[in-house]
Amino acid sequence: MKNDSFQKIVKDIKSFLELEKEAGLNEAILKPVIKHVAKAVSSKEPHPVEEACPIKDKGEALEQLKASVLNCTECALSKSRRNPVFGEGNPDADLMFIGEAPGLQEDIQARPFVGKAGTLLTKIIEAMGLKREDVYIGNCLKCRPPQNRNPLPSEIVACREFFMKQIKIINPRLICCLGKFASQTVLMSEESISRLRGKFYNFENIKVMPTFHPAYLLRNPQEKRLVWDDMKKVRDFLKERS
Ligand code: SF4
Repeated sequence: MKNDSFQKIVKDIKSFLELEKEAGLNEAILKPVIKHVAKAVSSKEPHPVEEACPIKDKGEALEQLKASVLNCTECALSKSRRNPVFGEGNPDADLMFIGEAPGLQEDIQARPFVGKAGTLLTKIIEAMGLKREDVYIGNCLKCRPPQNRNPLPSEIVACREFFMKQIKIINPRLICCLGKFASQTVLMSEESISRLRGKFYNFENIKVMPTFHPAYLLRNPQEKRLVWDDMKKVRDFLKERS
């Protein structure tokens, strides 16, 4: 599929979703549409990001992509955000963490995972024997949903191309999806995070490990043990193949 064809499909779907939203239909009714999106973007044809030229300078490629995100007005979140939050970390990272969307502190500081959940994520990374600057951290959505509400399907579709390109540039060996939305968005799945977590999946020849979001762990500290089990699998995978 050529890049311009893909762009057209995404724009058509976005327009359709916006119309449906205006008509008062809720997300449950829109689920079949999301399935359609999933089918379209996960077809066997190469995704546009796969057709891109080999990336010689990851830092420069990320800067160019970041400039697009900073100027993006593709969805309504551009009106309510303080700052888009592109992501940060080592462009050559083996391990990439992907969360849902920026929260209040992230929106203010224009950095991912800097609130309480971010502090916990940093501790998890350090418990694995890594430093925060060794990995890359980003979100599916680059702009904060008002009052931290759940992302709308139309927003996920609108922003998907950015994080797909981000993944392609960084090309990590393993992506750890934090929470339901990141896991479902990357894996194109409607399974609950409880069912998805703790197992390896493949995405564009990259291993994926879904686990609980650190914000969930702050509310449910008894689940930290499960996340630590998942992180040990991630750590062992990276060590075995280093
Ligand atoms: S959330 Fe993504 S698509 Fe929407 S305005 Fe921000 S960068 Fe653009």
